[in-house]
Amino acid sequence: MKALVKSRSERGLWLEEIPEPTIGINDVLIKVQKTGICGTDVHIYQWDEWAQKTIPVPMAIGHEFVGEIVRVGSNVNDFHPGDIVSGEGHVTCGHCRNCMAGRRHLCKQIQGLGVDRPGAFAEYVSLPVANIWRHHPGIDRDVAAIFDPFGNSVHTALSFDVTGEDVLITGAGPIGIMSIPVVKHAGARHVVITDMNQYRLDLARKMGATLAVNPQETPLAEVQKQLHMAEGFDVGLEMSGSSIALRDMIANMCHGGKIALLGIPAKPSEMDWRQVIFNMITIKGIYGREMYETWYKMSVMLESGVDIAPVITHRFDHTEFEKGFEAMMSGQTGKVILDWTT
Ligand code: NAD
Ligand code: ZN
Repeated sequence: MKALVKSRSERGLWLEEIPEPTIGINDVLIKVQKTGICGTDVHIYQWDEWAQKTIPVPMAIGHEFVGEIVRVGSNVNDFHPGDIVSGEGHVTCGHCRNCMAGRRHLCKQIQGLGVDRPGAFAEYVSLPVANIWRHHPGIDRDVAAIFDPFGNSVHTALSFDVTGEDVLITGAGPIGIMSIPVVKHAGARHVVITDMNQYRLDLARKMGATLAVNPQETPLAEVQKQLHMAEGFDVGLEMSGSSIALRDMIANMCHGGKIALLGIPAKPSEMDWRQVIFNMITIKGIYGREMYETWYKMSVMLESGVDIAPVITHRFDHTEFEKGFEAMMSGQTGKVILDWTT
């Protein structure tokens, strides 16, 4: 079968023939239809320091996908060929304390799809059935393809009660942007998002942000005045990975504010923890999605009116993957989808 493979320890990816995955008794085999390109895939494409340390070569990459089940293992009874599914890309160990307690998203020994095991940028992908999420048959395939990052967004955005609250999102990447309709749906009042990228600020406005600002031009203190906010933001969603953005967020929270931290900083940095202490701020780190509470919430929120489709701005055939990666690297995109049905 064809797959997008990191087959050499250098910049780039190659569309190559590799063997179809085999399945164990508890696995399913999926014919991939659409995939989303993630920042992780771009790191692997660029072959940066993290990728060189992390990715064994050769490796078929990719973890954001939707497809159709074509075969199930002999132990699999409740999933069937024809089901339209996506996959949780963190394959958990199943026997650590957290796994045993049903808190699988806290597993200490995960294997990553397209990182540690063959990925979904391929004609077929195999996963344990415990990692499969079944969609309603009519779901928009492009939206279904990005359930993984939508899940990062929902896990973060719903970490704290946002009903009636003023929410600050730092970073208008695809994950930050998808959080706008989610927190609005959950009852937030003002939703302010920051970025320096004009294309993405415009997209954030389309997705319903109260204000989408460049913090270098409009300081958050000024935003608070404009919105007549007396005491600061109630909930912060850090989705940029920038320590500057996090410091700025902490300085603009109300006393007792809550921060969910998703963005991954490139390196360690200094924080003034006194502000966290004296302002009694709660900070929660977020990794991945909750299995499967986040997936459940994503499905029902789409059914009850949340629309994330506008975050998908570019679509390419899988043979044009170079164009997709170039678009991602330009920063002038929301989500980029590759089509594997052709
Ligand atoms: P992205 O890189 O596309 O978006 C980040 C955005 O932040 C960019 O648009 C960038 O211009 C903006 N930004 C940079 N510095 C900023 C600043 N000082 N203030 C405001 N905005 C700033 O990333 P994404 O795919 O949307 O993901 C968001 C973040 O979440 C990334 O850091 C990513 O690595 C991380 N991530 C974490 C998890 C997890 O499980 N914790 C999963 C996926 C992604
Ligand atoms: Zn575990």
